[in-house]
Amino acid sequence: MVTLSTSPEQPTLDVFAEQIDRRSGRLIVLAGPSGVGKGTLLKHLLQRHPDIKVSVSATTRRPRLSEVDGQHYYFISRDRFNKMISRGELLEWAEFAGNCYGTPKAPIAAAVAQGQRVILEIELVGARQIRKNFPDAKQIFLCPPNVAALEARIRSRGQDSEAAIARRLARAKTELAAAHEFDQQIVNDSLETALAELDAAILS
Ligand code: ADP
Ligand code: 5GP
Repeated sequence: MVTLSTSPEQPTLDVFAEQIDRRSGRLIVLAGPSGVGKGTLLKHLLQRHPDIKVSVSATTRRPRLSEVDGQHYYFISRDRFNKMISRGELLEWAEFAGNCYGTPKAPIAAAVAQGQRVILEIELVGARQIRKNFPDAKQIFLCPPNVAALEARIRSRGQDSEAAIARRLARAKTELAAAHEFDQQIVNDSLETALAELDAAILS
């Protein structure tokens, strides 16, 4: 079983990074502003391709009502998050809207070693770290049809406070301005069309 932290019996974290580096063509970054529909599309994509692994991030954010620890995120304290950073246990990490988010290395190394495709659903700062360290990883950016639709989607999710919505919308502008940095942009207007495009991009 893959655990969130490394134990003394496990290989060192640099070995994990090397393992990932050797197979970094199996890594796919899916970025795009909060509320654009990344999670929704990935849920559908996994129904079509159960062999694909979606990385489970660690976060200091509080769980939303529908979220399950270990499934949607590992919900951890700021103290534990800081320890993961200092021990080199994260492949990338960033602050977003007042909370920290990061990708645990060990499960990614295990998945790519088995030849699995691995999707990292992360924000812009983390995507840039992955691009710098693993240039062979595919980088996909999901765009909303427009900002009004993005706001409506965040609100329709019904899980964020007004302050959190405002922080997410402010951050969305920065993220949208960086869409050109990615290998491919997909507009999530019709869910079906976006899913077909994502499917083709990931399997190509
Ligand atoms: P993200 O993971 O990017 O933060 P979510 O997957 O949680 O976004 O989606 C945010 C909201 O938008 C959800 O309520 C979801 O049902 C809705 N949504 C996703 N894709 C579409 C779409 N193509 N058209 C309309 N609503 C959508
Ligand atoms: P949310 O709070 O809406 O679940 O996520 C907020 C943002 O953090 C989203 O853009 C999401 O893609 C991003 N995110 C989730 N996990 C990670 C991670 O491990 N690393 C980084 N850099 N961003 C993440």
